[in-house]
Amino acid sequence: MENRCKARATCDDNHSKHYCRICSNRDSDHSARDCPSGITLYHGPGIYFANGKIAEQVSKYRGNGTGIAIFKCRVNEAYCIQGIHPKWIGVTADTFDEWCLLDHRKYRIIGIALMDGVIEGNINLPREEIIISGTCEIKGKVTARRISVGKALF
Ligand SMILES: [Zn+2]
Ligand SMILES: [Zn+2]
Repeated sequence: MENRCKARATCDDNHSKHYCRICSNRDSDHSARDCPSGITLYHGPGIYFANGKIAEQVSKYRGNGTGIAIFKCRVNEAYCIQGIHPKWIGVTADTFDEWCLLDHRKYRIIGIALMDGVIEGNINLPREEIIISGTCEIKGKVTARRISVGKALF
């Protein structure tokens, strides 16, 4: 007897109820990546989110020079404090919106962009997309729904 949740369109798990951690619905008809309560934001290292272009600019500045990784995420805005970050001289062209997520469970990674550099560990995103640009060396094992090369993230 199959045990399928209401999110069966995008969920293959063997369970009768699907918990969406973005909106906390315990019998959800959607996966967290599709959560209608969420918005799509991006973050580099840390728990601050911004739109894609800003995340790229900040990650390039903060990176150790070997490469950058940007995570595309579905985020529940209700768990964020939103603010305006002042212009970061030499990094961003202007002020920018930022979202500080207070509950670290209320987001889900829906994609990752890698630009240049060496990735030492494994990448396990079986349902997500990895976008590679520049020259990346990946030393570990990669599991992904799709790997795209040279495509724009945003
Ligand atoms: Zn499910
Ligand atoms: Zn949800």
